[in-house]
Amino acid sequence: MSSPSTSAAEVVDVIGVGAGFSGLYLAHRLTTAGWTFAGFEAGPSVGGTWFWNTYPGARCDVESIYYSYSFDDALQQEWTWSERFAPQAEILSYINHVADRFDLRKYFTLNTRVVGATWNAADRLWEVRLDNGETRRSRYLISGAGGLSTPKDFDVPGLANFTGLQVSTSRWNIALDDLAGKRVAVIGTGSSGVQAIPLIAEVADELTVFQRTPNYVMPARNSELPPEQIQCIKDDYPAIREECRHSLGGIPERPVADKAFDVSDEERQRRYEEAYKRSGFNGVGAEFVDLLTDAEANRTASEFIHNKIREIVKDPATAELLVPKYHPMGAKRSCFGTDYYETFNRPNVSLVSLRDEPIETMTANAIVTSKGTYGVDAVVLAIGFDAFTGPLYGLNITGASGKKLQDAWHNGVRTYLGLMTADFPNFFMVGGPQSPALASNVVMTIEQAVDWIADLIEHARDSGATLVEATAEGQNDWVDITEETVAGTLYATTDSWYRGSNVEGKPNTFLGYVGGVGKYRRMCTEIAKRGYPGVEIDGEAQSRNLGPIHKEIS
Ligand code: FAD
Ligand code: NAP
Repeated sequence: MSSPSTSAAEVVDVIGVGAGFSGLYLAHRLTTAGWTFAGFEAGPSVGGTWFWNTYPGARCDVESIYYSYSFDDALQQEWTWSERFAPQAEILSYINHVADRFDLRKYFTLNTRVVGATWNAADRLWEVRLDNGETRRSRYLISGAGGLSTPKDFDVPGLANFTGLQVSTSRWNIALDDLAGKRVAVIGTGSSGVQAIPLIAEVADELTVFQRTPNYVMPARNSELPPEQIQCIKDDYPAIREECRHSLGGIPERPVADKAFDVSDEERQRRYEEAYKRSGFNGVGAEFVDLLTDAEANRTASEFIHNKIREIVKDPATAELLVPKYHPMGAKRSCFGTDYYETFNRPNVSLVSLRDEPIETMTANAIVTSKGTYGVDAVVLAIGFDAFTGPLYGLNITGASGKKLQDAWHNGVRTYLGLMTADFPNFFMVGGPQSPALASNVVMTIEQAVDWIADLIEHARDSGATLVEATAEGQNDWVDITEETVAGTLYATTDSWYRGSNVEGKPNTFLGYVGGVGKYRRMCTEIAKRGYPGVEIDGEAQSRNLGPIHKEIS
């Protein structure tokens, strides 16, 4: 078996990028099927997201019993999660455990970034350039570079003037205690800011939160997992996983059939109260079927949360600033926090609304808004990611016609199933744009993607083929399907990283498929059964288009 240390002249079957959940499962699945594999990871460790995002409070918000690999029953039987939502360190230990248990470290070269890849049509190989100056060659190139692994540029005006402590949640490199006794600013109130703010408030002398867009923050309701519950899950794990695989979001669903206005106002309120107690992705936002498709229905859920905020936050002016009135609930990623709104009742915490007073600049020791100057000793940036395309464009990949991916997608992302893209033969994306990765239990989506890719290249190998590529027609069909699927939802009406609107100049296209993890899986399986319509294998294409298949699949 080849290892990443093989000589540059040797051709490896597959080069994989990244050593997070995607890269590790790729290495396991493909080497088990007899492929040679070399993985490259820019960071010094396996773990991906869970290696980089070590900010205080970081933890998953999809329950750990689901947000974990399902491919090996012995693994899920022997690993025991301590909490409903495991903290970052525990998820990182789990990923390390998987790397050791399946002996995967030998396939990866750490501290090595892929900085370029060019398709060599004559030899049907990828020539992959590394930041150590070396070039490696492979039949297939598979990105497991993640959707949320490229931090957004620090686009806060005047940040370079600031001489105090500066740290970002996605590259956290200080101890929480380093913020003790300091005047701290947190900029950004997405999921990362929401998790970090309550813990920073406990140590900071003063904390000022700079909020641009208020979010819907539901109580995480984290708790220890009692041994009886763990045993129950383990006894039933295969069935639970199967349910997740055929669900909407990769977690077990509560069967809900009625619409918000099918019930009386009192009944609706009662149900929201129950859902609020339950929380999680099966909470208020999932209580009625039409909450993401009907703005009026959504308003009832949104207002329920608005009122919760007004109940929790004692100062009415602060409460009003925290009320998310600019978008419907769930139309951008919901956040789950522990004591998030309660934190604004602390005497050392204050809130600045950047909608009312934008940041004009920063000085050596202050943030200057249009209305005032806020002296600070430390700035925490929780400003998010250049989602999906950031990591892929970082590969600097050049396709068959000599075009770079960023040029091919200049007007917006175009993929086949979120897994392949036309003109980039033998290149695959795990958890890519226009796949369900945007709005699902991502580990489940990753496993499905890796399995499908592995099956396709095995199918090609079995027939002696060495070239697989998405056809332009197949890709057009998939783009239409993703757009039609999102068009009837409130995601289509809301600016967020889901649509690329958090990054200046990024084309505004929806970056996911929201027809459901289960439907997507069944569609991918059907495509494989029918001989891969939309894919050209050694120049042979199945002409059938995807639209009818998508309609046939429930
Ligand atoms: P990543 O974990 O991002 O790993 C990609 C790896 O590729 C990184 O280590 C990176 O260094 C490396 N890489 C990138 N480019 C290159 C290159 N050019 N060369 C070499 N290496 C490269 N999802 C959920 O479903 N549930 C959650 O609760 C959840 N919580 C999250 C919390 C945070 C703080 C964040 C940021 C994301 C969260 N996500 C969650 C999404 C999460 O990113 C995925 O669940 C999952 O971890 C992605 O795994 P991955 O291996 O595909 O990518
Ligand atoms: P995010 O959701 O994109 O939030 C970034 C925040 O920073 C937003 O409030 C944004 O405001 C603000 N912001 C960005 N640029 C700014 C600027 N120049 N000036 C002022 N404010 C600015 O990023 P994130 O919080 O890192 O989360 C990203 C995704 O990672 C999540 O949606 C989720 O999928 C995942 N995640 C999950 C968890 C979890 O709980 N498991 C935790 C962290 C992250 P606007 O909204 O106005 O742009």
